Amino acid sequence: MKNKSSLNDTKIIKLEELSWKHIGELDKDKTIFFLPISPLEEHGPHLPVGTDLLTIKDATTEAIKILNKERPELTFVMLPTVPVGYCKFNTDFPGSVSVSGNVVRDIVYSFGESFGRHGFKYLIICTYHMAIPHLKGIYSAMKKIESRYNMRTCEPWGPYFYNNEVEKREPKLGFDTTKEIHAGFRETSLMKYQYPYLVDESYKNLQSIYRSLNSPRVIGKTFKQLGLKDGYIGSPARADADYGRWFFSETVNVIVKSTIDLYEGKKPRELPKNIKKIMRVLFWQ
Ligand SMILES: [Zn+2]
Repeated sequence: MKNKSSLNDTKIIKLEELSWKHIGELDKDKTIFFLPISPLEEHGPHLPVGTDLLTIKDATTEAIKILNKERPELTFVMLPTVPVGYCKFNTDFPGSVSVSGNVVRDIVYSFGESFGRHGFKYLIICTYHMAIPHLKGIYSAMKKIESRYNMRTCEPWGPYFYNNEVEKREPKLGFDTTKEIHAGFRETSLMKYQYPYLVDESYKNLQSIYRSLNSPRVIGKTFKQLGLKDGYIGSPARADADYGRWFFSETVNVIVKSTIDLYEGKKPRELPKNIKKIMRVLFWQ
């Protein structure tokens, strides 16, 4: 068995590669677990169904590499990426796998519980999928983990995303990026940067399609019922790998900063009030 510091220097520590004995020997106060979780979900005719899953897995891995360098006194443990989430509105396309918010909650809680009952203190839940029933599952689990165990948790991307930090911070582009909702300019750019060989060249010919998902009359409808027959909302043809690089590193930085803040006892950034309100009134689906 290598000692901890040599493991930290050379590689990401993956939970599935450790024995219970090694896990038990980790310093409970200085070990931080990362749980990447996002569903398989259609992302237009040009991107893979694992777009959110691959992005969050890679961003979490990169964040841990940075944290290993910045905080060598801490141990960062990557859990296997869980291919699960709520995306019922997309299930009229093959390849979208949706579970209920209850299932998301139970899965996330079970991970937290299994570390909390052995005295571990920190769990970061990393997701790239921003559907509110999915986030409700995650936040309900976090609350339960924190109240039953002496654990601190956070979900970095939701508060950043829903406080419109992307729009505030992104490079100026000359078009309205607030309409890029799903598998459009941003996610196509991201995949062109991280996985160019997984982006179908047809993206260049896809028409821009815009649709608000906030109006009450769209609630409960699927993408096809809303006339979104190709499964994207936005302008994939504008995709740009340089923007993808910026967007990816922004995601990594948000995970790094949230992790350090959590460890230092700072209150994690919260979801905005309107999102919390929707979560409260939302029935499980
Ligand atoms: Zn996505």
